[in-house]
Formats: sequence, C-alpha cells, structure tokens
Amino acid sequence: MFTRYTFLMSLRLYAATTSQGKLRDFRTAAEAHALDLSPLPGIKEIPAPEEDGLTFAANATLKAVYYSRFAPGELVLADDSGLEVDALDGAPGVRSARFAADAGLIESSLAGSPGANHTTDVWNNMELLLRLAGVPAVERTARYRCVLVAARDGTVLHTAEGSVEGLILESPRGTGGFGYDPLFYLPALDRTMAEVDLETKHSLSHRGRAIASLLAMIQA
Ligand code: IMP
Repeated sequence: MFTRYTFLMSLRLYAATTSQGKLRDFRTAAEAHALDLSPLPGIKEIPAPEEDGLTFAANATLKAVYYSRFAPGELVLADDSGLEVDALDGAPGVRSARFAADAGLIESSLAGSPGANHTTDVWNNMELLLRLAGVPAVERTARYRCVLVAARDGTVLHTAEGSVEGLILESPRGTGGFGYDPLFYLPALDRTMAEVDLETKHSLSHRGRAIASLLAMIQA
C-alpha cells in the first residue's frame, strides 16, 4: 500500500549548506517528518554564490535557485537565517554570520559558514555583547528568523518561514548548538538555545518551524 509515509520517504531532499550545525538541525527535522534529507552532493567543491540580498528571503532564494542547477531534477533546499535584536534596530539580521567581520574585529575571509568556524561564532557573540553593553535585560529582546526555499532546476517551488523569540543574555551559557545559541535565552524554558537538546531545539526553533511549514506545503 502506498501511504503518505512511503510517499515522504521516497521524496529526496538535498540541503544546500556546508554548515554542520544547520545540517544537524535539518536532519533532525527531516527525520521527525520521515523525510530523506542529505547534503547536496559535491557542495564543498561548488563555489558559493555572493549572498548580497537585503532580506533573508532574497538570500535563501538566490541560493536555492543557484544550487538546484547542480542537481538536475532534484528538490534542493536552501535557507537564510539570522538574529534580529530589537535594541540594535534588527541588526545583525542578514549580516549575522559576518557581524564581527563587518565591525573589523576579524578578517572577513574568516567569516564563513558559522558551524564550520567556531572562532567566528565566538567573535560574533563578542561583538553582540559589546553592542548591547548597558542595555537592560527587558530591552534585550530578539528573535531568530529563518526563510527556507525549495527549488528544482532553477525554479522556486516552495518558500516557508519560521521564527522564535528570546532575550540576549549578558554572558554565554551552555555548550550545545552553534552561532549565537549560548546568548539566546528562552524565558519559557529558563534555558539558552545552547542548553536544550536537539529535539527540543527542533520543536521550537526558527529552522524547525520553517521546515515543518515547508513539509506541510509539500504534503499539501
Ligand atoms: P547564514 O549561514 O547566512 O544563514 O547565517 C546564519 C547566521 O545566523 C550565523 O551567524 C549564525 O550564527 C546565525 N544563526 C542562524 N541560525 C542560528 C541558530 O539556530 N543558532 C545560532 N545561530 C544561528
């Protein structure tokens, strides 16, 4: 019998990312939806496109369209995500991966994929703390945002979004996750994103929510 489960398991999705942190999140999400997800074959050898869009949606779209041309006939997923801090008028936003480099704290060549470069994450977190110095706890509201785009052969098929609200702490807590996770505090759980297990992170994170919404679209 051909059930919805067998339909989803037969649906292959390639993720266009070299970030181990993102890949882990995508995989956990895909498993929860019984979906077969793997990294785009050969992605490390494909020159990365310039992420010069002004919004998460623009960057996710340009990446999905670009990378889907390297896997003819396949569904290729790309995301753009980042942190928006209200006291910084939405910064770092689309510049989240390059926050410290933009501020001149590190060489811009170091500001690559966040999960691939722990040092970059540490410097980005430091820049965030510097910029928020003196801002009281109640005004340190922030959110992670993620836009996911699925494309095939250069054509966009689906777009989905997810976000999660939190507060930026004054010092890091926890060793899990990646990027800004040790500073991103979830009041309802009394934990940072670096202190929750992967399953919990998936259930409430911007990326988990975006992928759940994208899979619902594919199922529909
Ligand atoms: P992207 O690779 O252009 O999407 O950049 C993502 C940036 O936002 C990186 O600097 C990450 O550190 C940050 N970011 C996005 N999602 C997460 C997350 O789930 N946890 C921590 N940082 C994240």
